[in-house]
Amino acid sequence: MSAGVVIAGGGLSAQRCAETLRQGGYGGAVRIASIEEHAPYDRPPLSKALLAGTKTLDEIAFRPAEWHGEEDVELLLGDGAAGLDLDRRKLMLESGAALDYEHLVIATGSRARQLPGGDRYENVHTLRTLDDAVRLRGVLKPGKRLVVLGAGLIGQEVAATAMGHGAEVTLIEAESLPLARALHPELAQWLVDLQREEGVEVKLGTRVTELIGEGDRLEALLLDDGSRVELDEMLVAIGVIPNNDWLPDEVGLLTLRPDIHGAGDVAGGDHWELAAHQGKAAAHAILGQEPAQVPFTGWWSDVHGVRLQGLGQPAANDEIVFEGNPAERDFHAVVSRDGVPVAALAVGRPREIPRLRKLLAEHSSTPSAKEAA
Ligand SMILES: Cc1cc2nc3c(=O)[nH]c(=O)nc-3n(C[C@H](O)[C@H](O)[C@H](O)COP(=O)(O)OP(=O)(O)OC[C@H]3O[C@@H](n4cnc5c(N)ncnc54)[C@H](O)[C@@H]3O)c2cc1C
Repeated sequence: MSAGVVIAGGGLSAQRCAETLRQGGYGGAVRIASIEEHAPYDRPPLSKALLAGTKTLDEIAFRPAEWHGEEDVELLLGDGAAGLDLDRRKLMLESGAALDYEHLVIATGSRARQLPGGDRYENVHTLRTLDDAVRLRGVLKPGKRLVVLGAGLIGQEVAATAMGHGAEVTLIEAESLPLARALHPELAQWLVDLQREEGVEVKLGTRVTELIGEGDRLEALLLDDGSRVELDEMLVAIGVIPNNDWLPDEVGLLTLRPDIHGAGDVAGGDHWELAAHQGKAAAHAILGQEPAQVPFTGWWSDVHGVRLQGLGQPAANDEIVFEGNPAERDFHAVVSRDGVPVAALAVGRPREIPRLRKLLAEHSSTPSAKEAA
């Protein structure tokens, strides 16, 4: 068999790429090399249903255990990509093994950014993998004081899910409003109000100045407003770093090579829909097929039982028009710039999304998003 396709990384983009190759009739070898010990699984439930305990590990796997064997997709687990020989077309793994490839798909995602000094403490967590989620779930107990540092989507979701475990939650955010890139200020304020209504203590515009610990346990934070926050556990959710440090310096040129394809969060994305699309697109390129049109991708989140969905990137000065009832957590909003719709958000209204996506795509300056509408 030929050297075929090697996929570095074993998450959503990797899985979508492998599936699309087989669906498209690709007959060569397909190998997924992942640093994790688990077959590809879905990450969004890690801060929602899996963390809440309403979904099991098996339920978040993308495919049943036998799928990869049946489809002849080889899983090389627990051995990360460590280097690349572009001229000899070899992917080097941490174990020292080298995999020959005809096409390499780079889909190593990103990792959670840690707070400097935070990794000294066993009760300071980050959340990116299944193992992280299982560890965090194990410490969320009634009455436990959880600090969530960072009020991005993952921080918002964990704060909500932890309340469901009976924890006392403090959400701390350095900016005066969270999620500036995803939410218009009025919507960001609505989300802060929602967290507070549900009993989460939200501290905005506040930075950590000191970590106070005893041995391997963090006990309190000092904040720049002079306050001290006592805690039992802390989740650091202050953003991600792409897992591209194993790539050679020519990384920026890689996409110019026909045998190298980048997909998902490592390629600059940070949402599920985009990673899924790019994994498929890499497969289409390998199959020599027309690349699928880039749809107007968006994100979703579940916070206190409410489904939030967003499309586009609003800016603070954009005009926003609401329809529905924010107080009842049932509304959508269209955000316009110079009279042109550029972003939208739906709360508790998943059925609005196809229409809003079409509206935005029709006004998009990206030709392929327009065509995909
Ligand atoms: C807790 C959480 C909740 C989320 N919720 C939402 C949501 O509600 N909505 C939404 O739109 N998006 C959500 N996302 C984002 C979404 O899950 C990601 O955009 C998506 O998983 C990206 O897919 P990917 O394949 O690029 O990366 P990943 O899914 O991260 O997969 C990359 C894989 O590569 C592995 N890897 C890393 N380094 C190496 C290496 N050197 N060699 C080999 N393998 C390596 C990683 O361990 C991982 O298994 C969430 C993410 C997290 C972490």
